[in-house]
Amino acid sequence: MKTERDSLPRVAVVGAGLGGLATAIRLGSAGYPVELYEKQSGPGGKAFSEQIGRYRFDTGPSLLTMRHVFERLFADAGRRLEDYLTLTPLDPICRYFWRDGTRLQTSSDREAMAQEFYRACGEPPEHLHRFLDYSRRIHDISAWLFLENSLHEWSTLTKPGFLASLLQLHRIDLGRTMAKANASFFDHPKLQQLFNRYATYNGSDPWQTPATLNIIPHVEYGLGGWAVTDGIYAIPRALERLAREVGVQINYNTPVDRILLEEKTRRVRGVLVAGQEIPAEVVVSNADVTPTYRHLLQDARAPQLARYQKLEPSSSGVVFYWGIRRRFPELGLHNIFFSDDYPNEFADIFQRHRCPEDPTIYVNITSREGAPGDAPEDGENWFILVNAPWDNGQDWEAEAARTRAAVIGRLSAELGEDLESLIEVESRLLPPQIAERTDSWRGSLYGISSNSPMAAFRRHPNRSRRYPGLYFVGGSAHPGGGMPLVVLGAQITADLVQRWNRLR
Ligand SMILES: Cc1cc2nc3c(=O)[nH]c(=O)nc-3n(C[C@H](O)[C@H](O)[C@H](O)COP(=O)(O)OP(=O)(O)OC[C@H]3O[C@@H](n4cnc5c(N)ncnc54)[C@H](O)[C@@H]3O)c2cc1C
Repeated sequence: MKTERDSLPRVAVVGAGLGGLATAIRLGSAGYPVELYEKQSGPGGKAFSEQIGRYRFDTGPSLLTMRHVFERLFADAGRRLEDYLTLTPLDPICRYFWRDGTRLQTSSDREAMAQEFYRACGEPPEHLHRFLDYSRRIHDISAWLFLENSLHEWSTLTKPGFLASLLQLHRIDLGRTMAKANASFFDHPKLQQLFNRYATYNGSDPWQTPATLNIIPHVEYGLGGWAVTDGIYAIPRALERLAREVGVQINYNTPVDRILLEEKTRRVRGVLVAGQEIPAEVVVSNADVTPTYRHLLQDARAPQLARYQKLEPSSSGVVFYWGIRRRFPELGLHNIFFSDDYPNEFADIFQRHRCPEDPTIYVNITSREGAPGDAPEDGENWFILVNAPWDNGQDWEAEAARTRAAVIGRLSAELGEDLESLIEVESRLLPPQIAERTDSWRGSLYGISSNSPMAAFRRHPNRSRRYPGLYFVGGSAHPGGGMPLVVLGAQITADLVQRWNRLR
């Protein structure tokens, strides 16, 4: 006898990034027949893994926040996150270093952090409390509307929370920039710099991005940061396992060449894979918006694409993976070495489109916390990220060489060691490779930047109106990039697929 499940449409998911995997899990556990295609050899997309000699590295994301988003994904599939992943609260969360010798640590323990700011910078403790209350308020007002719902569907307007959110929108600080807001909360320039850095969490410029992005400190300190046992790559591995358990068929080393359409209606009818037409009534593209229109749909003239391409991509990054044959106890899992001139650094990235002359350097060492096996006993696996402009045809060999010299010089001076001589193995990732490996437009890390108050409304919708049956999930679509956000995007997308299926 035919059940309701047998009549559910077939779904093809293009890409096993975290957004693609999470959508496949949600639809698979709702009974949809789901087939997922990934051109790489394994899951994760930007969150991939690389072994170089005696050292293992997470290739992209390194800081996990919003644990509850992942918990909900597992719970909605009838599972417990703890059975798949071990996450430990971070304390300290990050260590900060300045050239003048100032050092401090951040923490989810508000009082301890306020005291730390007082010790290092003389900042009155109440300033941090006032700021974190404000950050929590932005979160409480805006998260439901901006992160958990589509901003492009009429159905959002009829939800019970909508009116309440709308009435409070004037309280989310859209009217001034993040840098301006932070200067109003903190006296010390170093603490203003520390909180301005949160603009980079979605590839933006604190002197342009609205202060609404001050939601992020609450996410990091109020909700907490997490160390992942065995490193970030354990996350796509866990999602891959769950996807298979709920019946998703996963095909690696299998690029999708085209999304197939019915001629008259432009309705999705399947995907073209290795010359074979595979029928599907629903296609979810986890590929970036631009290659989806240009290559998969062969529709370079779509008005949606033209609109999208007017938007500024988020920043990219220059990444070095170094196996270091020594241990540095003064470093932790997350470390930031700040530049002296932060405004100039962002002007380099967003206006002069070059790598910063004096970059702020992020060093992530998973072998210090969560994944001791990622490096031998006498060494450490250093993931070094410097914010960089999106790929505009720059001479990346020259940019990378200049950046590498600046990083070596700065870290050698800070740590009192000739770092060059300690590098046992080395690899790197530049914006064109980020673009090539994960099809991300211009090598952006997070889709489009948030350098305008309207950016949240301009991201690509999760459901295509032009192509019935086509959906978008991932960093370039609503609600934007970052691991938890693409997993939230998967929830929005899977809900839309189910809703539109009921309306068919
Ligand atoms: C260096 C770096 C540092 C970052 N740091 C952080 C961080 O600390 N914290 C954080 O939360 N986020 C961070 N991010 C951002 C985060 O990694 C991304 O926002 C998120 O992982 C993107 O997920 P996604 O679903 O958009 O898929 P992606 O990771 O973009 O994956 C898309 C997948 O689709 C596949 N694909 C594309 N086209 C096709 C096709 N035609 N056929 C088959 N497969 C296809 C690609 O191969 C890829 O696997 C960082 C990113 C980078 C690169």
